[in-house]
Amino acid sequence: MSGTFVGMPAFPEAAREAVADPTLRGNLRHATHTIRAKRAAAVAEVSDWAELREAGKRIKDHTLRHLDRYLVQLEEAVTAAGGTVHWAADAEEANRIVTRLVKETGESEVVKVKSMATQEIGLNEALEAEGIRAYETDLAELIVQLGKDRPSHILVPAIHRNRGEIRDIFRAEMGEWGRPAPEGLTDTPAELAEAARLHLREKFLRAKVGISGANFMVAETGTLVVVESEGNGRMCLTLPQTLISVVGIEKIVPTWRDLEVFLQTLPRSSTAERMNPYTSTWTGTRDGRAGEGDGPRAFHLVLLDNGRTDTLADEVGRQALRCIRCSACLNVCPVYERAGGHAYGSVYPGPIGAILSPQLRGTGSEIDASLPYASSLCGACYEVCPVAIDIPEVLVHLRERVVEGGTVTREGNKVVLKPARGHAAERAAMRAARWAFARPGALRAGQRLASRTRALHPRTLPGPGRAWSAARDLPAVPAEPFRDWWRRTNGGNAEEGTTK
Ligand code: SF4
Repeated sequence: MSGTFVGMPAFPEAAREAVADPTLRGNLRHATHTIRAKRAAAVAEVSDWAELREAGKRIKDHTLRHLDRYLVQLEEAVTAAGGTVHWAADAEEANRIVTRLVKETGESEVVKVKSMATQEIGLNEALEAEGIRAYETDLAELIVQLGKDRPSHILVPAIHRNRGEIRDIFRAEMGEWGRPAPEGLTDTPAELAEAARLHLREKFLRAKVGISGANFMVAETGTLVVVESEGNGRMCLTLPQTLISVVGIEKIVPTWRDLEVFLQTLPRSSTAERMNPYTSTWTGTRDGRAGEGDGPRAFHLVLLDNGRTDTLADEVGRQALRCIRCSACLNVCPVYERAGGHAYGSVYPGPIGAILSPQLRGTGSEIDASLPYASSLCGACYEVCPVAIDIPEVLVHLRERVVEGGTVTREGNKVVLKPARGHAAERAAMRAARWAFARPGALRAGQRLASRTRALHPRTLPGPGRAWSAARDLPAVPAEPFRDWWRRTNGGNAEEGTTK
């Protein structure tokens, strides 16, 4: 993944500021609760939701099992329709390919439809370093870009901003990016939307190069699909002469027919809509398809790996690749609701980010080792996931890897587990416990001693254990050990469960 988030502190530290910010928490609570309630109502309308969910899961699992075959089929279909396919092993290679393609057109600016894959690889920064300006055209992405901010939600990247903050960003920044914000701009939604529309329109009409991601790629036809709600995607996909799409290899589905499942589950799970407002599909170039006269003259598809084949190799973790980025799991997560998206240190926040980012990055960094713990394991994310990703199962699996295997690192193309030694105090405590449990007489003597001296026991732990006991009461030592109580009241042996 991109180096944008390299060096992020561990999740608890990164979340501390957000948790202490009442405005941010208020914005998040209001937005997530609103979307959550609407989604529940939209899903409840569908009588065969459970079957659709199961079908989505099966299609994705089948595709991932035969990913090599379907990717080759997709490449052949895209090439036959006049497009060119490029393979990128990592973020660096993908950025290099896209930058070269834009430079070859002679252009120095591009319009973009929201794409998580390009955020993942830090494409905008890579283009900027080469003197190419990328304009985000999704309203929320525009707010994030103008505010020199980072996205904090998959679907609503500016969810942490309220209307007043957005008005201030538009007033301050729009002039610098071309068309100034209208005089006396207020924070009413209609005025803010109109300001953004006018600001973007001239960029759409001027742009010669468009960059997109895709929600789905159909192997049998070579068709790419983008679903969005504002129409900006349609403009980016049809107006520019050159279209470059950067897409993760897991976004493939075998057949056109498979879309019927996801085009039902995705809109209801994400925006709580029965149908998506704009569903754009395109296949190759306008000259590559005889008899059709619209679309780009040149089309490039950059297929991005960037940690996905490593993730696919993990039997438990691979289910994260089923994700269709609906964001339903974020909106029900009690941790996300309080911490917000920035603390996850990735373009993929919330529960899906907690299982996807550590696997894709494979860096074993502080933030990646802490993300599997950014959950209460309540299971709400699994309940709402339209492709039934068992996020709690993967979280526990990744916790095991952190504890037992230490950190997960990548060397070249290989994922490597660095053995953990654990904390010295924890290791000493475990050794002492093993010694005592192997010697019942010593254990009994220790328990009696602990009971007799119970008045002297501290209520908090010393050293590194202080953080644990600061938020919890240490359990009180009983006045009499259980075994002694059993012998006194039953006259038998507690270990053997006998009575007199
Ligand atoms: S994990 Fe499931 S609920 Fe979360 S974004 Fe992905 S598809 Fe949606």
